[in-house]
Amino acid sequence: MNIKTSEKLYDEALENIVGGVNSPSRSYAAVGGGAPVFMKKGKGAYFYDEDDNRYIDYLAAYGPIITGFAHPHITEAIKKQAELGVLYGTPTSLESKLAIMLKKAIPSLAKVRFTNSGTESVMTTVRVARAYTGRKKILKFAGCYHGHFDLVLVAAGSGPSTLGSPDSAGVTESTAHEVITVPYNNVETLQQAFDKWGDDIAGVLVEPIVGNFGMVMPQPGFLEAINRIAHKAGSVVIYDEVITAFRFMYGGAQNYLGVTPDLTAMGKIIGGGLPIGAYGGKKEIMDEVAPLGPAYQAGTMAGNPLSMASGIACLEVLQTPGIYEEMDRLGKKLEDGIFTINEKYNLPIAINRIVGAMTLYFSDHEVTNYDEAKNTDTEMFGRFFKLMLEKGVNLAPSKYEAWFLTTEHTEKDIDDTLDAVDYALSELAK
Ligand code: PMP
Repeated sequence: MNIKTSEKLYDEALENIVGGVNSPSRSYAAVGGGAPVFMKKGKGAYFYDEDDNRYIDYLAAYGPIITGFAHPHITEAIKKQAELGVLYGTPTSLESKLAIMLKKAIPSLAKVRFTNSGTESVMTTVRVARAYTGRKKILKFAGCYHGHFDLVLVAAGSGPSTLGSPDSAGVTESTAHEVITVPYNNVETLQQAFDKWGDDIAGVLVEPIVGNFGMVMPQPGFLEAINRIAHKAGSVVIYDEVITAFRFMYGGAQNYLGVTPDLTAMGKIIGGGLPIGAYGGKKEIMDEVAPLGPAYQAGTMAGNPLSMASGIACLEVLQTPGIYEEMDRLGKKLEDGIFTINEKYNLPIAINRIVGAMTLYFSDHEVTNYDEAKNTDTEMFGRFFKLMLEKGVNLAPSKYEAWFLTTEHTEKDIDDTLDAVDYALSELAK
């Protein structure tokens, strides 16, 4: 495949943009390096790069593009709003309209606030939980990603009885000491951490279904245990649904699983591809937020009319009956097809799939936590990624990400993807 223009553009980007990318995960560092393909346009489930190669896309821009690229209903809504002005700095009816749609779909949201990103939303839920409880510490789970603010760029300590250490230069030890990180899907270490620090823990922050060391389901009873243990200690339970809200059904992972947090952070899908974040939850906790309460959060762009219009249009599309069932059906076809193909090659493959989101690990064991995900074959995934790209299938360039189906993928796209998988696995088996 000729990607000469991408290579040229990457050289230019390296000269001008740090690392050539505006978000580190877009580089191919985790899949053996090289120039990332530069995309020029997208339509439905397809991407076209600067050399006019076509790809079936499963990156979905890391999640938001659940209705495919340039969906006519969303594009129309954005165009219409752009002609009326893109930013006013006053309230608009669109903000309440989207807030009401979110509240109807996710009943734990008594009140919501819009921000511009997932990071901002999670960051504010943490501040609000601290304001509400008057406590300092946050407990999170190893391998879950919650954005790039200091408090969540903290790595696990050496065991459940140790505090974290900075996971990024520029994060201070004192910040790291406010964070406890324990393994996902492990109630015992969660309990041990609460036994030690329970009175100081403002909130437990968790991806109810993990999307950041691949797609990983909570084991039965895990989320219920979080609620029980945290609430007994007077801590707030925060779900980071930045990936999961509207990914598996019209609602959140909390609705899909039947568990309820105190606060929820969202982003990605709810903006239909434009910058957005939102957080919300119990009224008495949300009333801590300014101008009602003492916890401050603001934003010049927060709730901007373009993102609101795009988000409303996206959720309207997602209300179409049967679309999640179809993503589930095609996801199952893809998963089953990969296992069937692999009967010929017998490579170590494990797949976690929830509806239209799936991770393929090169591993002879199942993945239920971060350590198990780390222990899968990075080199083999890197080669698989490049072989798939060569055959016109665009995956996320990291073994820790998901393949996302959209409402626009067809039976034929899955068949074509499986042909590419057959080729890639046959090469890996050589
Ligand atoms: N939380 C989760 C679960 C995420 O996956 C991400 C981004 N991938 C974020 C928060 C941060 O969102 P953003 O990139 O919009 O700041």
